[in-house]
Amino acid sequence: MTSSAQPSVPDLQAEPLVSLLRDLEQLVKLESPTSNMLAVCTVQDAVEQWAKDLNAHTHALPGGTRQFLFGTSEDTGSAQRKRVLVLAHADTVWPQGSLSDMPFRVEGMRVYGPGSYDMKGGIVGLFYALRSLEGNYPAGGIEVLLTPDEEIGSHHSRAVIEQAAQRARVVLVIEPPVADSHALKSGRKGVGHFLVELRGVAAHAGNKPLEGASAISEAAHQILAVQALADPEKGTTVSVGAVSGGGAVNVIPAQARFEIDLRVSTLEEGERITQAMQALTPHDSRVEIKVSGGLNRPPFERSPATMKLFAQAKQLAAGLGFDLTEEVVGGGSDGNFTAPFVPTLDGLGAPGDGAHAAHEHIRLDRWPDHVRLLTALLREV
Ligand SMILES: [Zn+2]
Repeated sequence: MTSSAQPSVPDLQAEPLVSLLRDLEQLVKLESPTSNMLAVCTVQDAVEQWAKDLNAHTHALPGGTRQFLFGTSEDTGSAQRKRVLVLAHADTVWPQGSLSDMPFRVEGMRVYGPGSYDMKGGIVGLFYALRSLEGNYPAGGIEVLLTPDEEIGSHHSRAVIEQAAQRARVVLVIEPPVADSHALKSGRKGVGHFLVELRGVAAHAGNKPLEGASAISEAAHQILAVQALADPEKGTTVSVGAVSGGGAVNVIPAQARFEIDLRVSTLEEGERITQAMQALTPHDSRVEIKVSGGLNRPPFERSPATMKLFAQAKQLAAGLGFDLTEEVVGGGSDGNFTAPFVPTLDGLGAPGDGAHAAHEHIRLDRWPDHVRLLTALLREV
């Protein structure tokens, strides 16, 4: 978003910012890398207390996800009274101790800190919105899932997210809006990950080089073949992002491995690449190739159901005095798991920039607008 008028520095002592900043400071100072379950739990505990303060029913689900129910009890979810499902994650990409290099701080119109934009600000804004509803929840009530492992692929929470989607009529994902904009996320690419392991034959590189079968040479052939599977026009990208192999330089290497990041806009493309990966054949028949992995998150396609939900959000934003847009993005989220079944709108968290980067921050001048929008959506959706 560009604006010719320079926004004035907002009043940090006035609502909603005074509450939003207080709660954000609490969560950001509880560091929560995905790898540290105990640390992630401390964030979930803090948020669970906020939920209890609002008289929510709270539950610990299998795989480490917390469930908070507002205006609905455990046993609902019938066809007529399906819920509004809100997806949030408590983990961040930042290792323990990151706060010392990038402390929680307000500078002008920005508030910085590890995990602020992705997505502790989203959680804070959600609870501000829930409090603002003062118990007037939408038909069917609201179910919030706070998962522990979104940043590494949601392996432990995927099943509970998909089950919750069956009980939902609408899914709102409070990942941040598109960087440095007011844009929501109306679609996301599907994400895949493959590991290719090669086993060749070791031999003395000087004395008996022809007796060896180099796993590294084979990897070189395979890497080029795999990257040639990309089809950028269809939105399919294939990137070999990590390679290792060999050991002593005077040995024909018997071991090599490489890893692939895959992004696809359609399920068909995901299947095409998966089949091609499983059909990789060695250039040198003495080398064995083992392929594992696959499509982890299906594509979140920009569907009419999502666009209908977006149109509702756009109208609410106009009523609040700002112009809302939408974009399809390359990164995945837990919305990828629900979008194939339930109308899903993503990017309803805190606006800012710098996800997974040292300058991660939230824009204080834009944040209240997005919190008001989320409140209005939760009231009317
Ligand atoms: Zn996130």
